[in-house]
Parts: sequence; structure tokens; C-alpha cells
Amino acid sequence: MAINFEIIHKDIMGRLGKLKVGEKTVKTPLLLPVINPHIQIIKPSELEDMGVEALITNAYIFSKSSEFRERALKEGLHSVLGFNGVIMTDSGAFQQSVYGDVAFSNSETVAFQRAIGSEIIVPMDIASPPDRTHEEADEELDITMQRIREALQIIDDGHLAAPVQGGIHTDLRKRAGHEVSELNNVFCPIGAVVPLMEPYRYSDLVKVVMAAKSTLPPSACIHLFGAGHPSMFALAAAMGCDVFDSAAYALYAREDRYMTPHGSYKLAELNELPCACEVCRTNTADELKKSEEKERLLAMHNMNVSLAEIARIRQAILEGTLWELVDERCRNHPRLYDGYLELLKYTDQLEKSDRITKRRFFYRGKESCRRTEVAAYHRNLSRIDAGEKALVLIDGKKTGDAENIFLFKPPFGPYPPELKETFPVGQSEMPETDADMFRAGCQGLRILIGSNPETEFTISGGDEFRQIIDEELTELKGRFRYV
Ligand SMILES: [Zn+2]
Repeated sequence: MAINFEIIHKDIMGRLGKLKVGEKTVKTPLLLPVINPHIQIIKPSELEDMGVEALITNAYIFSKSSEFRERALKEGLHSVLGFNGVIMTDSGAFQQSVYGDVAFSNSETVAFQRAIGSEIIVPMDIASPPDRTHEEADEELDITMQRIREALQIIDDGHLAAPVQGGIHTDLRKRAGHEVSELNNVFCPIGAVVPLMEPYRYSDLVKVVMAAKSTLPPSACIHLFGAGHPSMFALAAAMGCDVFDSAAYALYAREDRYMTPHGSYKLAELNELPCACEVCRTNTADELKKSEEKERLLAMHNMNVSLAEIARIRQAILEGTLWELVDERCRNHPRLYDGYLELLKYTDQLEKSDRITKRRFFYRGKESCRRTEVAAYHRNLSRIDAGEKALVLIDGKKTGDAENIFLFKPPFGPYPPELKETFPVGQSEMPETDADMFRAGCQGLRILIGSNPETEFTISGGDEFRQIIDEELTELKGRFRYV
């Protein structure tokens, strides 16, 4: 009995994996619906029928409930909730801080979570909000680390989650990732990100997640605690977040909000239901608005949308098309786009985890020039021996002789003809060449010429882009000539 995580496929820093929790195995990326035993708008058994493999509930609620406490201790959570999948419990740290319940201690909550049969147990960490100063967040992180170590004395069979805290401070997130990695816990939630997601601070979200990921071992299963809305799952998955949870499906339903993978609507705004799920195909928008079961039907739709997005992300990772999904999703809200631009600053870190071949590379605008595949291709260009004389055919037309011929495909740049069918050159689809794309290709050319100082280079064609070539290759002037 323990928790194990096996990575099957990778794309960018995203992973398709198997999370083994005791005897149960679930697929990642994974969505954990949040269940409040007092308000079961969709029953856990119904969620199971919808394809939900794991859920999360709150240990504090159970411990304080006259209705559920004794039953949970006697029968266990699985029986009380009527759910056969994996059950994770949150410690109740949030409720404890709100209600100031000092009697509910760290060792008490983890022992209680164990006693009610939780399979992923969370210690009482401190979620430092973004307004904490460095000093405050530092102290809170010390307490969190101390509590994780204390909880490990009680939960010593691998079922303890080790949360990564540190607030908005990236150095503290790195320290937290580093200290957590030394404890060898497989399941590592990144905490305190809800206050960043609620006001759409996605670029800050990317900064803290990438900081934590830089020091966490790649083998750890990462739970982005409190995420959230399906529109940001792809961005989070690209950073290597494997597990999400959703209270939003029910909270949104209560407020008449209808989720889509690219944002939410107020139900009153909708004349049509733009979704393929059962709720939306068996009800019109008017019927849904008037239904006595409106909240429940909306919650089911919201859950279906969230699960479908998880499925889409898994398929994208399998194929190697996650960049295209991230690009598509992040263009749906300007602040998500901020997060996307922030992520593109980490190409070097992302590229180390990325895979070598993918199904395809579809160019989707200048952001695509900063994708990991372009960076990896450019890096590999420095290893190509261009011989004594090399001819780079910008527009493919052969002019003159040379020992080595290179063709040219932006945004990658020069490539030997034998790479024509290989990824990424062969499986990439580009619109008509634009200046951004060509400039990225010239960066590849600069690397090839720069790493072959003995080679005489001739560049043929590409007359309309010569200014860009000259700009990008300024420091290599004299190392090539045009024909
Ligand atoms: Zn629907």
C-alpha cells in the first residue's frame, strides 16, 4: 500500500500517467470533484457513473458533523459517500483558520483522515495568501514543513500528500519544492493558488507553479489545489500539473453559471446550449432556465464539460498537440493570454521535459515561434557539420553547387534534405511565411553558421526577407554571401 505515479506519455511538461493509490489505479491528468457531504447536488455514485475515478472531500466537515462523524469513523468514507474510487481528503486548514478552531490540530486531522479511510491525506498546511510579505510567508512555510514532517510520523505508508507553499514568492516556492522533494512524497499539491486564479492573475500563477516545479522531482504527481475552471486546465497541464479539483461545477451551478471550455455564461444570457452533453441535448435553454432541477442539471453539465476538457488534454498529450490546445484556450481571455506569454518565457525549462517527436506542429501565430520544438530544433542545429561549402536555399530553388545543401523552413530554419520527412520539419504546417516566422528561422541559420566557423556559406533566394537576414545575422557579416 502506497501511492505510485507512472508517467506514460509526455508533452511539453504535461504528462499522461497512472496514479496508483493502494490497489486502485486512476489516469492522469485527473479531475477530483469536491464533495460536501451536506450538499450532494450530484451524488458520488452518479459522478462515478459519469466517469469520475476519484474525488476530494473535507475532513473538517466530517469531523464536525453530527450526521456524518460517527458514521464515517465506523463505516468509512467510501461507504458513507457511496463511492468506490479514490477518495482524497483536505485537512480543513482553511476552515480551521476561518473558525479559529485551535482544538483541531495537525496530528488530529491526519489521524482522523486515516480513521475515516481517506486514501490521500493532507496535513494542516498554511496557505500563504499573495499579500503575505516575504518574511511572513517564510515563517508560514517553516510551519507547513514542520507539520508535514510531523504528519509523516503518523502517516508513514506513503499516503500523505506533501503540499508546496510559499505564497507569491518564487524563491520560497523553490525552497518548498526542494524541501518537499527530500521527503520523497509522491503526491505533492501546490497550494494557495486560488487567490491567484480568482482575480485572473494567471501570469503570477505561472511564475509560482514553474518555480515549484523547478525544484520538485519530475516523478512527483502534482495537484494544483483549487483549480478550478476548465479553461485553465490546459495551461496548468502544460506546466506539469497532473491533478485538478473542482468545486466550481457546483458553485457555478448555484449561481446559474454555465461553463464552457473557453469561459462561462450566465444561463439567462443563453438562447442556445452550445454543448454536446446529455443535459444540453435533452433540454433547450428555455427548458433548463425553467427546470425545477436547474441547479442540478447545470452542475451535471459543468461536470461534463470539465471531464471532457480533461479527456481532450489527455488526447493532446498522447498526440503531442498540447501546445496547440494551450494556444487555443489561452486566447479566450486576455489574462489567460498573459499566463500563456509568461509560460513562453520558460521555454528552456519546458524543453528539457518535452518529447522529441509529435504528431504535428501547427503554426498558430508568432507565439508558435517560441514553442519548445523550435528551441529544441535550434539547439540541435549547433551539432550539424556543414562541411567546407554550404548552400542554404531559402525558397528551395537550386542555384549553384556546394558540398552541402540546406533547405529552409521557418520558424525552424535551415535543414538538410534528409530531415525533410522527420519531426518537426516534416510534420509542420505553416501558413504563408510572415516576418516573425522568418526571423525565428534566421535565428536557426545564425546558430548553424555560428557553429561552423570553417564553412563557406552561400544563401540563395528569400530576396524579400534579406533585410531580416541581415539584421539577425549582423555579427556574422562576412561569413556568408548571397547569390
Ligand atoms: Zn452540456
